[in-house]
Amino acid sequence: MRMILLGAPGAGKGTQAKLICEKYKIPHLSTGDIFRMNISTKTPLGVEAKKYIDKGQLVPDALTIQVVKDRLIEADCKNGFLLDGFPRTVFQAEELSKFLESINTELDVVLLIDVPKEFIIERNIGRRICSSCGVSYHVKFHPPKELGTCDFCGGRLIQRNDDNEETVKERLNVYTNQTHPLIDYYKTNHSLSIVDGRDTILSVSKNIFTVLDS
Ligand code: ADP
Ligand code: AMP
Repeated sequence: MRMILLGAPGAGKGTQAKLICEKYKIPHLSTGDIFRMNISTKTPLGVEAKKYIDKGQLVPDALTIQVVKDRLIEADCKNGFLLDGFPRTVFQAEELSKFLESINTELDVVLLIDVPKEFIIERNIGRRICSSCGVSYHVKFHPPKELGTCDFCGGRLIQRNDDNEETVKERLNVYTNQTHPLIDYYKTNHSLSIVDGRDTILSVSKNIFTVLDS
């Protein structure tokens, strides 16, 4: 299965992506995770991306598209992948479409996790991620079994630099202006499945699996 998960920042893409990828045995391609990994190891890509991410802005298309193309040609993507956080602009979507065509493949599913704006601040500010494996928790909605420690790998939980109120508001503006138009783009150029993201993590995943298995 080749799929895209769309949704506002904090909609639950990363959380659901983990569950989907486990079930369908496909790699999870999160551009945000790729950038954060490069930031933590201080690669040239990480140094450049950090300038934008810390301000809540998008990393320039040219850089981001190249990162995704390089990842999609890796062997583990041959039989499927889940893109989380990409595309984020109509230009990225068009470039992805051209690239997939050039390697004779196409998307199976584009799925939007739909969450209204009023959920976004609390979801992002309460998020904690594992500094080692990147898995998301939430102080209120999805706490780890042991405070500050990842259930999966025992890594230390941290708050993302961009999960503060001011930056989340900017990310939400960027989503509204640059990423939200993708909803109409995919309604026109593909089919778009929509799942209500206001429910609990478990209910959202059940609804996603119903869509994916149908
Ligand atoms: P995204 O990848 O879309 O930015 P995440 O999956 O990281 O979002 O989720 C953002 C935050 O909201 C995390 O702290 C996560 O634990 C929490 N979260 C995800 N899905 C839900 C949900 N359905 N209900 C409540 N909190 C959720
Ligand atoms: P995420 O982990 O998806 O919330 O992404 C964190 C940040 O990484 C975003 O706010 C952007 O600055 C950057 N980013 C991630 N994906 C993209 C993308 N497709 N295009 C541009 N910037 C991105």
